[in-house]
Amino acid sequence: MIDTAMIHAHVITPGADLSDAAILVKDGKIASVLPSGSPIPSAEETIDAGGNYVVPGFLDIHTHGAAGMDITDPEESAVETVAKAKLEEGCTSFAPTTLTLDEETLAQSVTHVAAYREAGEKYARVLGVHLEGPFINPACLGAQNPAFVREPNIDEVLRHSAISPVLQVTFAAEMPGGAEFTRRCLENGIVPSCGHSKATAEQFRAAYQNGLRHLTHFCNQMTALHHREIGLVGAGFLYGDVRTEIICDKIHLCPDMIRLIFAVRPLESILMITDSMRASHLPDGPSSLGGLDVIVKDGQARLASNGALAGSVLRMNVALKNVFEVTGLPLSEIIRCTSWNQAIELGRGDSLGKIECGFDADLTVLDPTSFDVKGVFIKGEKRL
Ligand SMILES: [Zn+2]
Repeated sequence: MIDTAMIHAHVITPGADLSDAAILVKDGKIASVLPSGSPIPSAEETIDAGGNYVVPGFLDIHTHGAAGMDITDPEESAVETVAKAKLEEGCTSFAPTTLTLDEETLAQSVTHVAAYREAGEKYARVLGVHLEGPFINPACLGAQNPAFVREPNIDEVLRHSAISPVLQVTFAAEMPGGAEFTRRCLENGIVPSCGHSKATAEQFRAAYQNGLRHLTHFCNQMTALHHREIGLVGAGFLYGDVRTEIICDKIHLCPDMIRLIFAVRPLESILMITDSMRASHLPDGPSSLGGLDVIVKDGQARLASNGALAGSVLRMNVALKNVFEVTGLPLSEIIRCTSWNQAIELGRGDSLGKIECGFDADLTVLDPTSFDVKGVFIKGEKRL
C-alpha cells in the first residue's frame, strides 16, 4: 500500500512540466509520478495539491541567517531558527553558512549545527556547513569583518569538519597557499569555492588546473570583466563546467545580468542561492552582520559604515519567481538551478533535486501566481 498520494499536482521538475499529475510516496521516497487521468491506487493518505505547482524542495547552499538570527550567533537555537525560516521559503535542505570570524566562534557555530542534526532536524535538513571565509582577500571584503581575515589553513577546516561535516569553503584562490588548499579540500570531499577574490583570469586558470570548479556569489566581490583582463567574471563565462552561485534578488545582480547569465552559461552550472542574512523574513530596519551594523531599507541590506551590500533578504521562492519573470525561460528548466544542480555537485544526485521514482519525497508546493509557499514535505512528511 502507498503511504501518500498527492493528487492534482502541477509537477515541475528538471525537464518535465506535468499538470494535474499525482505523486505517490512510499517509505519517504517517490514511488511514482502519474500523468493526468491515470488511475490512483489506494493510499493511507490522500493530499489534494489543488493544482498548485509542486517542485523539488529547494537546496540553499549559501545562507547565513533569517528571522532575526545568524548561524554564528552565540545561541544554539540560531540554527533551528534559520532552519525553520528556510523551510517556510520552500527549502527542504540548506547549508548553514558562517562568516569571517575567529576560530573559536566558528567552532561554536559548527557545534550548534551538529546539535541541530543530532536533535533530528525538525525543519529544513542540513547538507553540511559552508565556511565563507575567513580565508578571503582583504581587498574584497564585502561585508566580511577584516579583523578576522587569515591565510588558507586546511587544518582549521578539518578541525571544524570533525565537529560537523564541512561541505564547502569560500576562499580567495590567489592567497598564499591557495593551490595546496584547493587540493586538500578536494582530497577531503570538501568543495573549494573561489570568492571574495581579486584573482586574475590567469590565477583562476591555475586554480582550475588544481580542480577548483565553483565560484561563490558570481559577480559579487570578485574581479570584473575587462576586455584586456577578463577577471573572475570573465572566467566564469569562459569555463562552462565551473559552477556559479547567483543571488537573484535583482539587487546583487541587475535583471540584465541575470538574463546574460542564463543566456550564456550552461544551465547545469548555475546554482541559485539566497546568501540571506538575519534580516531575511523580517521588516526593514536596523540589523547586523558579523559584528558590523547593517541597515535594511527597501529590501536591501547594506553596511551602515560604507553602504556595501551585506548579504540579502532574499527567499528561495522569490528568487525562482524573479528568474522566471526576468528570463522568460520555462520553469522546468530554471528548476534545475534551485536543487538538482546542487544535488549533483554534492554527490546526492540519486536522492535529491528531482520529482522522480526513487528520489526522496522532498516537495515544495507553490502558488502558481504568487509563488508563495503553500506546503513543504520532507521524505513525504508534511512539515509546513
Ligand atoms: Zn555569504
